[in-house]
Amino acid sequence: MSDCIFCKIIEKSIPSEVVYEDDKMLAFKDIRPSAPVHLLLIPKKHIASLQELSVEDAELIGAMMLAVPQIAAQNGLQHGFKTQINTGVQGGQEVFHLHIHIMGRPV
Ligand code: AMP
Ligand code: ZN
Repeated sequence: MSDCIFCKIIEKSIPSEVVYEDDKMLAFKDIRPSAPVHLLLIPKKHIASLQELSVEDAELIGAMMLAVPQIAAQNGLQHGFKTQINTGVQGGQEVFHLHIHIMGRPV
């Protein structure tokens, strides 16, 4: 998606502070953090939101959920964290590329 800011982050055509990357997903620091640690985990495949997720994405979303606690722990949140997925306009979604917010305070 040429007009998608998170696709541009994946392509590295706009900068971000990447904290985790593999062939399927990317995690980076939220530019306007609402917690001391505030990361966004996104699939490299452009999926607009949870509402556009299909059965063929089951393995991908499963892999992302399994990665969440590992990425959190690597960033100081081994004792717990909050996750959030805003979905659709009414759900407060601003960037229409599926993302999992990972937020917390390191101890
Ligand atoms: P949402 O409301 O769930 O769509 O959240 C979008 C999030 O993306 C917000 O927390 C923004 O601060 C964050 N964001 C927007 N642009 C960037 C960017 N270029 N780099 C990092 N985070 C961003
Ligand atoms: Zn995208």
